[in-house]
Amino acid sequence: MPILNRVHELQTEVAGWRRYIHENPGLLYDVEHTADFVAEKLKEFGCDVVETGIGKTGVVGLIKGSKGEGQTIGLRADMDALPITEASGVEWTSKKPGLMHACGHDGHTSMLLGAAKYLAETRNFKGAVAVIFQPAEEGGAGALAMIEDGMMEKFKISEVYGMHNKPGLPVGQFETNKGPSMAAADEFKIFVEGKGGHAASPHHTIDPVVVSAHMILAVQALTSRETDPLHSLVITIASIHGGDTHNVIPNTVTLHGTVRSLLPETRDFAERRLKEVVSGIAATFGAKAEVQYERGYPVTFNHPKETDFAVEVLEGIVGEKNVFQGTPPTMGAEDFSYMLEKRPGTFINIGNGNTAGLHHPAYDFNDEAIPYGISYWVALTESALAN
Ligand SMILES: [Zn+2]
Ligand SMILES: [Zn+2]
Repeated sequence: MPILNRVHELQTEVAGWRRYIHENPGLLYDVEHTADFVAEKLKEFGCDVVETGIGKTGVVGLIKGSKGEGQTIGLRADMDALPITEASGVEWTSKKPGLMHACGHDGHTSMLLGAAKYLAETRNFKGAVAVIFQPAEEGGAGALAMIEDGMMEKFKISEVYGMHNKPGLPVGQFETNKGPSMAAADEFKIFVEGKGGHAASPHHTIDPVVVSAHMILAVQALTSRETDPLHSLVITIASIHGGDTHNVIPNTVTLHGTVRSLLPETRDFAERRLKEVVSGIAATFGAKAEVQYERGYPVTFNHPKETDFAVEVLEGIVGEKNVFQGTPPTMGAEDFSYMLEKRPGTFINIGNGNTAGLHHPAYDFNDEAIPYGISYWVALTESALAN
């Protein structure tokens, strides 16, 4: 199925919604403005059910097909923005200072709304499609909040599909891979406690700055010397806080970082060895150390059968040469992973063309991608629910 005329006709309208959402960004769960807009549109399209307040501010619309009973598939978009001051220079720049749609969730929401409008008009499928609009993708686990509110059971969702735009990939192209496609992301804090004192008399102190320096270097050996080089692991200590001036050795230092992994055993290994190395080094210097380790988003795992199916659908829209399979995973994270833990499905990238990168102040979603995104949702629904 190439891009349909009706989908082309929708582009201007959908781009208008996208720019309106872009002007009115919200952080994490604070996306009421967008959620209200989405719910109003879904009702206007004639969705059979429109439910708000799932996972605090999430919205689900249910559209039943006209070809009889069948399963329900879930299509998911995200609605939240980022705490970045916009520098894109576009006419539809954010009206909220310090907040902007720098990850293209405005585009994801609008494309799914466009698909909902088309699918509610045509209903050329069996069963039903649930269009899922989630809050708090950027670190707030909004997908998990919707799952914990019973979304999967309530709407009897049997498969789930997600899509993210990708700067640098030409418009009209898609990419995906089977298995792990994005990393598990964990967060840790290390509290090092020494004994402060005069900087000129270090022998009377236990210097937590020196102890921290040993820890920072030692944890890098976990990735370079203890992990199979083919099992990806990142340990980044991105923040160090300790001391106020040049001539006082502080009592404490706090380190703050992230662990990224693609396999459960690598994740377990990193958590265990990080704690062991930190406590061993603290003991070596007579200091104390505590590690607070919090597991965040799980690995985004693309189920093989559903990924093959999505690729087949995409090839039908843009041709084989514009669909890349086997794209290497990245160590970024994505909370659609929670939905893929509960139901089979897949997450794909859609080309955003030559724009600024994600989370960059100059980024803007590319409205040229809209017909491709809508076509994917529509063709996926009509194929998955054909029989
Ligand atoms: Zn993002
Ligand atoms: Zn994003």
